[in-house]
Amino acid sequence: MAASMASQAVARGLRGASAKYLFLDKFKCARVSSRRWLNLQEYQSKKLMQESGVTVQRFYVADNPPDALQAAKRLNAKEIVLKAQILAGGRGKGVFNSGLKGGVHLTKDPSVVGELASKMLGYSLTTKQTPKEGVEVKMVMVAEALDITRETYFAILMDRACNGPVMVGSPQGGMDIEEVADKSPELIFKEVIDIFEGVRDDQALRMAANLGFKGPLERQAADQIMRLYDLFLKVDATQVEVNPLGETPEGQVVCFDAKISFDDNAEFRQKAVFALDDMSESDPTETEAAKWDLKYIGLDGNIACFVNGAGLAMATCDIIDLHGGKPANFLDLGGGVKEKQVYEAFKLLTADPKVEAILVNIFGGIVNCAIIANGITKACRELELKVPLVVRLEGTNVQEAKRILSESGLPIVAANDLDDAAKKAVAAITRK
Ligand code: ADP
Ligand code: MG
Repeated sequence: MAASMASQAVARGLRGASAKYLFLDKFKCARVSSRRWLNLQEYQSKKLMQESGVTVQRFYVADNPPDALQAAKRLNAKEIVLKAQILAGGRGKGVFNSGLKGGVHLTKDPSVVGELASKMLGYSLTTKQTPKEGVEVKMVMVAEALDITRETYFAILMDRACNGPVMVGSPQGGMDIEEVADKSPELIFKEVIDIFEGVRDDQALRMAANLGFKGPLERQAADQIMRLYDLFLKVDATQVEVNPLGETPEGQVVCFDAKISFDDNAEFRQKAVFALDDMSESDPTETEAAKWDLKYIGLDGNIACFVNGAGLAMATCDIIDLHGGKPANFLDLGGGVKEKQVYEAFKLLTADPKVEAILVNIFGGIVNCAIIANGITKACRELELKVPLVVRLEGTNVQEAKRILSESGLPIVAANDLDDAAKKAVAAITRK
């Protein structure tokens, strides 16, 4: 389907976004955004929480089984919880390709932690929020476990519909929150936060009561909520999610899980936070593309797309699909393209072994088509391009650009419009 190609590209770009964004969308509380926010691992988010006075349990991290074992002994806790660190949620019910079930393990015996960690580290964990093949676990968290009498769900996120932050909570948190949202939406509570006033005391207390905290726990939970909001503002978060926000038999309100997403626009003033991004779960091609200010998302097909503008890039994917082809990627060169970026983009596209043809579709508004044409001819020569290249240029300085291409002597297939370009690219592959 035409529309599905473009939405596949957008969906891929959202991989790693919290599933709760999606469930909240059903309640018109939050919308899915096409930005890809920085996400941190649970242990990194918990460090930030600790610094803001939020209650989390004692923990260490380890990247090898002996260290995990050491950490378990050092904790000297009644019970220990070992947690695989990946950016996706749903770990508790996940499965490793080592055969181990569950990305979160509780044990009273610290001596088994090394053995358990050896079935997590270096293996892939698949959860309902990861791709099918799972995500490799490079780090585990070894934490003090506490008895949990009740698990609630709490999050603060930026919501377009409310033009600001909103708190969302449910007294029935834990691993099946998506199901709760689906089957009992009346158990999802929402409080819109006034960005100037912040979280009012009565709002925090009402949310705490809605989460089911009783007696002195209500005040304690309200304080945790206010501290979480302070953190949300301090680090320019787009989302702070705690699931579960639990209650212990000793009467403590504790954040047992943590997921924070950050606003990329605030990178300039959140240097310390962004420095924590280890890129370990990012697609290497996408990371390389980002270095050159190119928005690239890999797809399954064999026609590489080289386009300026996200809308035009989506239209290009769709029209290729309409003509029976499959795009190999989504690539948005953006507005002020430089010759160097054109070259780097070509390098990325041609490095993909699936690519059997390249379709260039440029609409020169801000961009000068001659710059693109020079970039293309340079890249074709230096990279010794071996696949057919179909080019459609339109807009600023297009005549000059066409002259550059035709005088280059390179075997470039010129196209009159987008439809023509897509047909020619698909035909180039079918002919092979
Ligand atoms: P995920 O959301 O990825 O499944 P969680 O961190 O929420 O991972 O852990 C899953 C479940 O494991 C929690 O809902 C909770 O029941 C249990 N759990 C997590 N941390 C602890 C802890 N420190 N003590 C006791 N139980 C815990
Ligand atoms: Mg959780």
